[in-house]
Amino acid sequence: MLVVRALNAMFRINSVVRDDVECRVGLLPPRTVSVVMTSYAVHNTQLLTQLDDPHSKWCLIDEGTIIRFNHGKALGPKLCPGTVHLDIIERTDDSLILHMVREECWEEPPHRAPFCSRHFNTRYGQYVRYVFGSGRPNPDNPFFHLPALLYTVFYGGDRLKVGTTIIIKGLRRFLEQPIYLVALLKLCRNIEEARELEVWFSRSSRLFSQAPSMKFRIGDIMRSLARRDPAKDVCRFVRSLILAVTEATSRRGRPGSSKSLADQLWRRLSVIDIAHPDLEEELLRSRVAVDANMADKVLAGRSAEFLGIARGFVLLGVGSAGNFAIPYEVFRDRLAYAEILS
Ligand SMILES: [Zn+2]
Repeated sequence: MLVVRALNAMFRINSVVRDDVECRVGLLPPRTVSVVMTSYAVHNTQLLTQLDDPHSKWCLIDEGTIIRFNHGKALGPKLCPGTVHLDIIERTDDSLILHMVREECWEEPPHRAPFCSRHFNTRYGQYVRYVFGSGRPNPDNPFFHLPALLYTVFYGGDRLKVGTTIIIKGLRRFLEQPIYLVALLKLCRNIEEARELEVWFSRSSRLFSQAPSMKFRIGDIMRSLARRDPAKDVCRFVRSLILAVTEATSRRGRPGSSKSLADQLWRRLSVIDIAHPDLEEELLRSRVAVDANMADKVLAGRSAEFLGIARGFVLLGVGSAGNFAIPYEVFRDRLAYAEILS
């Protein structure tokens, strides 16, 4: 048995392109938004995996590794993510020195609960539950003192997702979920400020949503990649985003920082594209397993080569059955009845 706990990857900047995109809101004359598009190539992606073996507890699954899944059942329930112990050692205006230790857990949480009873109310548990919309910020908890990023995801269609992450996740956060393009909206003081804006934006424009369905996201991403016209897609993304932010900030009762954010986005917008150059075409040719049930049926009794992570999907080569793309979210913290062959 094994459990995928986290992912790792190398990122390289491929290009930085500045471009002007003309946007129009309602009947007002068009205005020009200056867009900086940074394209990253991701490579050497890895799955940080915990093994049910006291002698070799942790394992990094590299690209090319073969995993053999059991007959009958390949995937089991999601397990408790455990906890992360975090201490802020030193903090200046532009640097943070942190000490972090992961504590893993093999327990299955109660139905619909994110954590087991032992890890439910840890500092990490409080932070994760707050991000998912429950509980209150705790000023004694160091997770609530880290800077946090507010971002928007474009899948290629007319729905945008607004999201947040604490800054230490960095670009890896954008490999953990199916994504086509991302706009970085604001570096916030802490997760409380980022969440306030996230919740408010997602309620204040018909274009924003906190979580479009997985099927919707995947369909839009695959159609976008197949168009092979990222420059045009960036323009569509920027226009939708400007429209959504303008619509939201014209409403009453907005958070104080939302107006200055809208003004700043009109002047300059940062968009990023993260592609795995070796896997873009493989991803387009792959069959997609949308959820754990589908993935279980595909993987049971098979050996699969881990090809890498692209656009939030784990790509697996399953011999004569071809390649399968499975959202990374499906694997994370989920019990897999499998062993690593090589
Ligand atoms: Zn636990």
